[in-house]
Amino acid sequence: IIQLYAPLNWFGTYYRMIQQAFVDMENMFDLLKEEQEVKDDPDALELNVPKGMIEFSNVSFHYTPAQPILQNVSFVVPPGQTYALVGPSGAGKSTIIRLLFRFYDVQSGNIKFDGQDITKVTQKSLRRAIGVVPQDTVLFNNTIQYNVRYGRVTAEDEEVEAAATAADIHERIMGFPDKYETMVGERGLKLSGGEKQRVAIARTVLKAPEIVLLDEATSALDTQTERNIQTSLAKVCERRTTLIVAHRLSTIIHADQILVLKDGEVVERGTHEELLELDGMYRDMWGQQQSRGDDTETEDEDVPSK
Ligand code: ATP
Repeated sequence: IIQLYAPLNWFGTYYRMIQQAFVDMENMFDLLKEEQEVKDDPDALELNVPKGMIEFSNVSFHYTPAQPILQNVSFVVPPGQTYALVGPSGAGKSTIIRLLFRFYDVQSGNIKFDGQDITKVTQKSLRRAIGVVPQDTVLFNNTIQYNVRYGRVTAEDEEVEAAATAADIHERIMGFPDKYETMVGERGLKLSGGEKQRVAIARTVLKAPEIVLLDEATSALDTQTERNIQTSLAKVCERRTTLIVAHRLSTIIHADQILVLKDGEVVERGTHEELLELDGMYRDMWGQQQSRGDDTETEDEDVPSK
């Protein structure tokens, strides 16, 4: 029993890791077919997103019945626009990103891309259309080139370098001992949080998806790194529909619309200016971040994380 149990347990743990951290999403799902909680409909079609509209309609969701997470959440992101999700820790922001990627199915309501319900299309086509820049990017124990190319495995070397340049990490890579052939990951060169995020951005540049979902890292990066990342992200998000989970409000003041989530409900929505005017929760959060100085200098340096 123990022998049978151990690997199953391992798969379960791994599956949850994928759902939470977007680890190696496309391939890993093939390997773990048995473990998938979300199944393709037998008549599933290919998702086609020429415009890139996101519709989230009356969505209610819980991981376990005892703890409702989202309650009747609705929003529409028009093609090409950038929307931001903000709110206290545990409000359900990252959950919305996971649902858009269909790591879980909703209990009521529905999610559509360009009018197609995500439960009626293949997961493969869904994940091809969406690019995710996760909070914490997992690197493979392989070369930095392999890690960047992962965004589109058929990309030429020149395209890999162009993507790294767009993500502002090319120069850094050229400073590594073996340049693009340098081994990274657990057993190679350790990259800092900011560098890993730039690898994720480079992957997304290569993938060139219609829709970009971005889960901003919670940990503070130094001001310059933050600025560089902002610049490269702006390039990735240009003309693409983008949804950003933001922890630092300074990063999303130019968003077309900001949704404030609290206890699984959207309690305020509007532009940065409109929400300041409203004098509600967003304004309080903004005031707190300003007085803490979150938006000016941070003490954390861009040092390698584990
Ligand atoms: P943060 O700003 O801290 O990242 P968030 O708004 O993104 O928070 P979520 O990660 O969406 O919050 O989590 C919402 C709630 O769901 C939390 O209470 C969390 O503990 C719970 N939760 C998250 N993942 C799971 C899971 N796999 N199983 C059960 N509960 C979960």
